[in-house]
Amino acid sequence: MPVMVISDIHANLTALDAVLEDAGPVDAVWCLGDLVGYGPDPNECIARVRGLRNLICLVGNHDAAALGEIDVETFNTEAKLSVKWMQTELTAESMAFLRDLPERIVVGQVTLTHGSPRNPVWEYILDTRVARYNFSHFDTDFCFVGHTHLPVVYTDAHSPASVHLAIPKSETRIQLTPRAIINPGSVGQPRDRDPRASYAIFDPETNTWSYRRVNYDVAQVQKRILAAGLPARHAIRLAEGW
Ligand code: ZN
Repeated sequence: MPVMVISDIHANLTALDAVLEDAGPVDAVWCLGDLVGYGPDPNECIARVRGLRNLICLVGNHDAAALGEIDVETFNTEAKLSVKWMQTELTAESMAFLRDLPERIVVGQVTLTHGSPRNPVWEYILDTRVARYNFSHFDTDFCFVGHTHLPVVYTDAHSPASVHLAIPKSETRIQLTPRAIINPGSVGQPRDRDPRASYAIFDPETNTWSYRRVNYDVAQVQKRILAAGLPARHAIRLAEGW
């Protein structure tokens, strides 16, 4: 049965609802973290995700920041402002949900984590070198990660010890071969210069991966970001996907 894989919603309810509608009925939802941060709808996104059937949800670095689990003094001014805003907005119920999220979970032949299996909350897998180091940090056939907001598939090429990077085409189904590290891209703040919301459908029986992009009303989200008093940069970047 198909599993919907989402990540980096970043408090963008319009984008989240667009991907949920696009996916249609699924057996389960795996959410790879960063429900909050940047966007205007943190409580609404948490409520929506909590209500999803057969949900597995991981903690991301922005979720950890909202909980006050990290020192934001090293953040830049805008990021610091966003974290402060989030902390005043989040309800006790939302906070409690975020606090219970695990850093890493194994489901069948898949390891789920936000950043990387080596450093679940913080490490960015942005190239084949970092991906290669991470293959020794999980035992399953596959590892699904988010965090970079870039859809990608890293495949272990075995011999010689090297890792192959592929950027899948959206709206096509690919056959995953063990072992691989796969990123579904970001729902609420894509950074690959394609502003459409990104997610994937994984079939654990056939190991197929369908990565999809969905249009949503960006202008409406930009208005809410500005109305909330959040940095304009968070709004501007959504239009171009960076
Ligand atoms: Zn993120």
